[in-house]
Amino acid sequence: MRTYWSRLAANLEPYVPGEQPKDRTYIKLNTNENPYPPSPKVIEAIRAAANSDLKRYPDPNGDALRNTIAAYYGLQSDQVFLGNGSDEILAFSFSAFFDPDPDRPILFPDISYSFYPVYAHLYQIPYRCVPLHEDFSLPIEAFFQKNGGVILPNPNAPTGNAVSLSVIEEILRHNPEQTVIIDEAYIDFGGVSAVPLISRYPNLLIVHTLSKSRSLAGLRVGFALGHAGLIQGLNTIKNSFNSYTLDRLALVGAEAAIKDHAYFQATKNKIMRTRAHVVSELEGMGFYVIPSQANFVFISHPARPAEEIFTQLKERAVLVRYFKKPRIDNFLRVSIGSDEEMSSFLQALAAIIA
Ligand SMILES: *Cc1c(COP(=O)(O)O)cnc(C)c1O
Repeated sequence: MRTYWSRLAANLEPYVPGEQPKDRTYIKLNTNENPYPPSPKVIEAIRAAANSDLKRYPDPNGDALRNTIAAYYGLQSDQVFLGNGSDEILAFSFSAFFDPDPDRPILFPDISYSFYPVYAHLYQIPYRCVPLHEDFSLPIEAFFQKNGGVILPNPNAPTGNAVSLSVIEEILRHNPEQTVIIDEAYIDFGGVSAVPLISRYPNLLIVHTLSKSRSLAGLRVGFALGHAGLIQGLNTIKNSFNSYTLDRLALVGAEAAIKDHAYFQATKNKIMRTRAHVVSELEGMGFYVIPSQANFVFISHPARPAEEIFTQLKERAVLVRYFKKPRIDNFLRVSIGSDEEMSSFLQALAAIIA
C-alpha cells in the first residue's frame, strides 16, 4: 500500500530510546536517568507557575533562564542557547553548522551516541565514523583529517570514558574552519568541561542537558554554550522551526534547578560515590569495567555473554541497556541508581553469574 511519505521519511531509520516499560515495576537502570528526585525548589517553582499566565506564550528567548545559566558558567547571555532537551539542540546544530558536502564528511566516533547518525541522515549530512581504539579510547589524530565538522560526547556514551581538556583543545586547534561540538551530557559526574575554552575558540559549541545531573529528564531542557556567533546560528534554525521550544513550566523549573547549588552538589557526589562502590563490586565479580566519568558503567564478563545476562536481569525485574551492535554486543550499559537499587542489581547479577 502507498504510504504517502516523502522519500526522505521513507528512508529514515529513527533512533530507538531505551524502553520505559509499563507492564511491571523494574529497577530501571537503562536510560541514565537520575535516581534522585529534582530539587524541591524545582517543584515549588513549577507549582507557582501553574497559573492563569499559561494562557500566554512563554518568553521565546527564555531570557531569565539564559541569564541564570550565563552567570553560573561565567559567560554572557548571548553565549547561551536553550532547547527542548539537548537532543533538540543537537538536531538544530546539524542543520546550523554542517553542510551536505560529499567531500567533507563530518566526524564522530564509531562507538558513540546513536542519535548522531540519525540526525546526519535527517539533514543529509555525509559522515565518517572514527573507529575508537580497542580499549575504546579516542584516536586523536583521526580528527585531524579533512572534515566538515566534529561531534563528540565527553564523557563518551555508552562507554563512559572521558578525555582531558588538552585533547579537546588539540582537536579544536586542528579544525579552525569547522564547528566542533562537544556533547557534555554527563560532564557533571567527574569529567572536565571545555567551557573555559569558549573564549579562545569561536568554533566550539558545548551542549549540556538537565536530564541527567539535574534529575529533570521529564522536563525536557538542554542548553548550548559557545561564541555568540554560533548561538545566533542556532537561533536562526530554531526561529525557522518553532519559536517556543520551552514552555513556561520548563523555563522556571530549569532556573530553580540551576540555582540550587547545594542540592546539585549533594546528589551528583552521591552518584559518584555509589559508582565507585559498584565498580569495585563488579570487578570483584570478574567484570571488565571501563573507567567511567558518567552516571553509568559499561561492563563485560569474560565468561557470560552480555545478551544472556541482560535477559536474565530483565526476568529478575532489573532493566539495563544492551546494544546489539558490532564491537559492543558483549557489553551492558548500567545506569547508576540509588544505593538500594544498585545492591539489588548486584545481588541479581551475582545469582546469574554463579
Ligand atoms: C541523554 C543524552 C542526551 C540527550 O539528553 P536530553 O537533554 O534528554 O535530550 C544527549 N547526548 C547524550 C550523549 C546523551 O546521553
